[in-house]
Amino acid sequence: MQKEKVVIIGSGPAGLTAALYTGRAMLRPVVIAGNQLGGQISITSEVENYPGFPGGGVTGPNLVDLMVKQAEDFGARLVYDEVVEVDFSHGSPFHVKTYGEAYEADAVIVTAGASPRRLGIPGEEAYIGRGVSYCGTCDGFFFRGKEIVVVGGGDSALEESIFLTKFATNVRVIHRREALRAGPILQKRAFENEKISFIWNTVPEEVVGNGVVEAVTLRNVQTNEVSTLKTDGVFIFIGHYPNSKFLEGQVEMDEHGYVITDELMRTSVPGVFAAGEIQDPIYRQIATSVGQGCAAAIQAERWLSERD
Ligand code: NAP
Repeated sequence: MQKEKVVIIGSGPAGLTAALYTGRAMLRPVVIAGNQLGGQISITSEVENYPGFPGGGVTGPNLVDLMVKQAEDFGARLVYDEVVEVDFSHGSPFHVKTYGEAYEADAVIVTAGASPRRLGIPGEEAYIGRGVSYCGTCDGFFFRGKEIVVVGGGDSALEESIFLTKFATNVRVIHRREALRAGPILQKRAFENEKISFIWNTVPEEVVGNGVVEAVTLRNVQTNEVSTLKTDGVFIFIGHYPNSKFLEGQVEMDEHGYVITDELMRTSVPGVFAAGEIQDPIYRQIATSVGQGCAAAIQAERWLSERD
């Protein structure tokens, strides 16, 4: 059992900021990176709305690199492993188990983030990696000269649609309503992009193919008319769910699995804090995750020093 003052679960903007702050507080935090160092920003092509990067922003992987280096400069130790189990039931020290190690931590900061939601339609699962994707940055390159559909009407759907026009001949956005949820800047850019068109009031019902995706079956929600649209790729951006399964029964969560925290980023267990998308169904921005990670780290440090 490895004994630590602070274990941070997750390495997105919240986790890396918590690592920077607890590092500067001389707590030598261990960051268990999870299966994707940097979390969702590591698969984001361009970040235009994180302050400090004028003139076109910064790429997601670049920002992750900078955040990791800065946290490590202050003594944070990154571990490339995943948490499989936690036991908070006896209070501090808490038990955190990964595939490769078991930790005893005086305080824990949970920043395990969120993952893309699935449609749950026939063919979706079977064609992941063979035409179905949840990440334009990762898979867009494979669709050079091909036709793509994008499902969703939020910021992610439009941002990714615009990015995918670098590769695809056309991108059809399938949205279940007639009004987009995305913000006005992305709407304007998407409407002005000649390669992007919209199919309104429509939901996909099945992904069909023969080894690779060949088409998607669509249903108009107003008329119930069913049609088939030929396509090479189905990119799905319909929101996220919190990565909190490993916390079930350990901390209080809402009905969607988001960890409940108070304004001091405290969970229902004293000494366990949470920050970022695992506890934030509202903002989900890099800037807000950074702020929450900072607050959780400050509170963890105060909690430890008051206890000692
Ligand atoms: P989102 O805002 O929750 O949008 C999800 C979209 O998918 C909505 O249009 C929703 O339709 C649709 N949808 C949900 N379930 C569906 C289903 N079962 N079938 C068909 N369509 C479905 O998610 P997001 O776009 O991933 O954005 C998440 C957060 O990150 C937001 O706060 C967003 O502002 C932020 N974000 C910001 C940027 C940026 O600022 N550049 C970029 C990406 C994301 P309805 O509209 O009908 O509900």
